[in-house]
Amino acid sequence: MISRLTYKGMKLIDPFARAITYLRVSVTDRCDFRCVYCMSENMTFLPKRELLTLEELERMCTTFVGLGVEKLRITGGEPLVRRDIMTFFQSMSRHLDSGALKELTLTTNGSQLEKYAQTLYDAGVRRVNVSLDTLDEKKFADVTRWGRLPQVLRGIDAAQAAGLRVKINAVALKGFNEDELASITSWCASRDIDLTWIEVMPMGDIGNENRIGQYWSLKDVRKAYEDHYQVTDLAERSGGPARYVRLEETGQKIGFITPLSHNFCESCNRVRLTCTGELYLCLGQEDMADLRTPLRDHPDSNAPLEDAIHRAIGLKPKGHDFDYSRQGIDGQMPRHMSHTGG
Ligand code: SAM
Ligand code: SF4
Repeated sequence: MISRLTYKGMKLIDPFARAITYLRVSVTDRCDFRCVYCMSENMTFLPKRELLTLEELERMCTTFVGLGVEKLRITGGEPLVRRDIMTFFQSMSRHLDSGALKELTLTTNGSQLEKYAQTLYDAGVRRVNVSLDTLDEKKFADVTRWGRLPQVLRGIDAAQAAGLRVKINAVALKGFNEDELASITSWCASRDIDLTWIEVMPMGDIGNENRIGQYWSLKDVRKAYEDHYQVTDLAERSGGPARYVRLEETGQKIGFITPLSHNFCESCNRVRLTCTGELYLCLGQEDMADLRTPLRDHPDSNAPLEDAIHRAIGLKPKGHDFDYSRQGIDGQMPRHMSHTGG
């Protein structure tokens, strides 16, 4: 094993020379919705003692920032249902002030945005991703089971009023929002909101009620756009799985996230921390490292935690192995998106 001194002050570079600068953090596995493709209706959540406390999350993220992470995306479960989560955002804002952190952002279902948008802005958040698969109230209630569309729309209003740039993430679901492609797109255009479609992934045990969670390939979504618009591919990449096109008629940039394709692995700059302190190195693989133990066992020193992070990054695989043809489409990945944070 390499000694600590070797790592001291070193930024996170994986064995394939990729700099790890982006950390996604799931701050809770709980949620106030039960989206059909994400959770079963009667989910069992983790006992509280398993979760990192807010102080532990803060220490963990601060350590990552010290090791060169420049972008933090807070997710869940629903990050805004975690009690006192604003104190976490407020405490992370000092890293924005120092310049060490370039971006603090979150992915949310929007249910609590009306309450928190201004506080988030004040903490230095400038962009927020809101998940929204339909603009039809009845369909929204069907797909989220417990969610209500007007509440989310009020949240989006509040976010924009506070000065947050909003991006909508819509999961592409065959026979569900296929017919809303044009209406969702023009609604986003009218509100100056970016839009990204996500391909549905086989995650977790979500029960057998996959009436709504039908796979709609983004290739077909793109084709559907071509029926309505002139579509131009853009070269822009974010280090992640998104690809972008421009709709010439509206000038809108539309994103497509196909997490199962292998074609973005070579530029992967990210790792994921679960709410229990496990670091997943790749969305499509089970390799992970326990960071909670070195954190909890050494309350007065971050050195063991930094070592553990470096060792984990040293195991980051070259690419993932997440393939519909071999895994089937529903419920084949043992972990839920709400655990690793999507
Ligand atoms: N609760 C927040 C939300 O819904 O935005 C954050 C967590 S959620 C797990 C993050 C993203 O994962 C959401 O955009 C959601 O639509 C997406 N997601 C959840 N399950 C998915 C699945 N099986 N396939 C593709 N995307 C999924
Ligand atoms: Fe909750 Fe987000 Fe999963 Fe929907 S996708 S159940 S809002 S964590």
